[in-house]
Amino acid sequence: KMTNSIKEPYLLTPGPLTTSHATKAAMLRDWGSWDDDFNQVTADVRTQLLAMAEAASGEYACVPMQGSGTFAVESALACATDPNDKVLVLMNGAYGKRAAQLLHMMGRRYVTLDKGDYLPPQPNEVAVLLEQYPEITSVFLVHCETSSGILNPLEAIAEVVHTHGKTLIVDAMSSFGGVPISLAKTPIDVLVSSANKCIEGVPGFGFVIIRKALLEAGKGRAHSLSLDLYAQWEYMERTGQWRFTPPTHTVVAFQTALAQHREEGGVRGRCARYTRNRDALVKGMRAIGFGTLLEDGWLSPIITTFLSPNDPAFEFNAFYAALKSRGFLIYPGKLTEVESFRIGCIGQLDAAVMETLLVAMQDALSEMGVFLSSHSRSA
Ligand SMILES: *Cc1c(COP(=O)(O)O)cnc(C)c1O
Repeated sequence: KMTNSIKEPYLLTPGPLTTSHATKAAMLRDWGSWDDDFNQVTADVRTQLLAMAEAASGEYACVPMQGSGTFAVESALACATDPNDKVLVLMNGAYGKRAAQLLHMMGRRYVTLDKGDYLPPQPNEVAVLLEQYPEITSVFLVHCETSSGILNPLEAIAEVVHTHGKTLIVDAMSSFGGVPISLAKTPIDVLVSSANKCIEGVPGFGFVIIRKALLEAGKGRAHSLSLDLYAQWEYMERTGQWRFTPPTHTVVAFQTALAQHREEGGVRGRCARYTRNRDALVKGMRAIGFGTLLEDGWLSPIITTFLSPNDPAFEFNAFYAALKSRGFLIYPGKLTEVESFRIGCIGQLDAAVMETLLVAMQDALSEMGVFLSSHSRSA
């Protein structure tokens, strides 16, 4: 059989993810990047994102940036910090590490609180560091650290950072739109996310929701021409256009994805579906005999890390291929200490898809000759 006669697989990954037919269909038209019709789409998307974040439009601006999510994080860090600042980077996985690497490359001073692979940074630890190093000006936190799937305690840390009068920069890439975040209730100065995560668009741009005062202070700070967030904002405000060629099809698909997000009941509706996905997944996986890396209280509704079984017949690449042939793409682990793999709960998936995944999983395991012990089954 030709491969293109097979139905496309479900992406159980944290983005790019499985998108709806309507979102894909929205890309079947070409747009002039300078034309009013497209400028209106950009303006509408920016307004809707501010509303989703419950960010007052007088205080905050939403600035989209071409590229993957990391491009937006880089442009946000370059704009919101300067060489005299000192940033406290809270790390418990790959994305916290990446932020430190970005700060290093742009010549910013920083200190880190490294909790290893999956332990959460705690608000009291942040308070101790802010008192110990009064020269710290800003704190960087990853909300859902996608490398393990942990949902870090954003609200409590934001409170500590605010009490100490520091700036809080949040990588909410994999949580925004799928987990409630309110800038009206939680003191966050900069929030970064992208098109292809919980809003279920296709890849091509990220966006930064940032206090206007910080944007203005960021004039002339950027280390990069194309990733100059202030210049992007200033140009967009003045002309309605993106400063360089925008990913037009992606932006229009994103507007369609936003309409579906609203129809589903906004962030709360989406969070409820992702939570049902996660619960069906975790329950079924534990029944098969897989253990989760994290205790229940830290599991996000975004992605879950499962520990690879000790059985010598279990091998990730073979498991991946067996699931792929059954229509599911899973995600490798990103831990340094233990063997693991990850299953995403976001995208156009529901609990029924998770149930078919669980059946495929059992099928794949018996094909591989993996028999999980009743001991782990009872875990
Ligand atoms: C996806 C993601 C990013 C951005 O990764 P890109 O590959 O650049 O899109 C950043 N932070 C987190 C937490 C993510 O999940």
